Amino acid sequence: MLRVAEIFTSLQGESTWAGYPCFFVRLTGCNLHCVYCDTPQAREAGRRMDIAEVVAAFEKSPVKMAEITGGEPLLQDGFVALAEALLTAGATPLLVETNGSRPLERIPAGARAIVDVKCPESGSANSFLEANWARLRAQDEVKFVLSSRADYEWARTQVQEHALVDRLQAVLFSPVHGRLPGPILAAWILEDALRVRLQLQLHRILALP
Ligand code: SF4
Repeated sequence: MLRVAEIFTSLQGESTWAGYPCFFVRLTGCNLHCVYCDTPQAREAGRRMDIAEVVAAFEKSPVKMAEITGGEPLLQDGFVALAEALLTAGATPLLVETNGSRPLERIPAGARAIVDVKCPESGSANSFLEANWARLRAQDEVKFVLSSRADYEWARTQVQEHALVDRLQAVLFSPVHGRLPGPILAAWILEDALRVRLQLQLHRILALP
C-alpha cells in the first residue's frame, strides 16, 4: 500500500527530460525542510492507494514517460514494488526524483534517478548520504538547486571532487526561482568553463503543476 499525494500529467520540469509530457506519481511524506519547497502539500496530504490502482491509471494515460516524485519517494516501503510495476507496464523512461538522503540502491536498474543534492542554503544542508556518491549510475542525473554564490562554490567543489561530469548522464545547476537570477548563474558557469548544464525550473516559469 502506498500513500499518494497526487497523480497528474504535466511537462517534466527539472532534468534533461524537461519539456516532455510526463505521468507523475507524487508520493506523500518528506524528511527534509527546504526553504524553497514548492510541494509542502506533499508532506501529509493524499490517500492510500494500491500499486495496481496507480498502474491502472498509468495504463490509461497516453503519456508513457513516468516519474515517481514526492516529497521523498524512497521513504515509502512500497517504492520499489511501484517502480518495478511501472517499468513492467512500459514506463519509458521511468524517472525517480529523490533528495539523496536515503540509499539509492533501492532504485531499480531500469529507472533513472534525478538526485537533488541539497546545498548549504537550502535549509537541508548535509542531508545527502555520503555513500550515495558511489551509488550513482551512468544513467543518473544530479541536480544542485542554488540560492547564492556560496551554494555555487559548494556545488562546484562536489562536482570536481566526485568527478560527476564524467560519470553521470548530466549535472544540472538550477537557480532558485526569485533568489538567484539565471543570468548571474550563467555568467559564473561560463567564467569557470564548468561542464554542467544550466537548468531553469520550467514548471515554475510556465506555472504548471
Ligand atoms: S526534499 Fe523536496 S519535497 Fe522535501 S522539503 Fe525539500 S524540496 Fe520539499
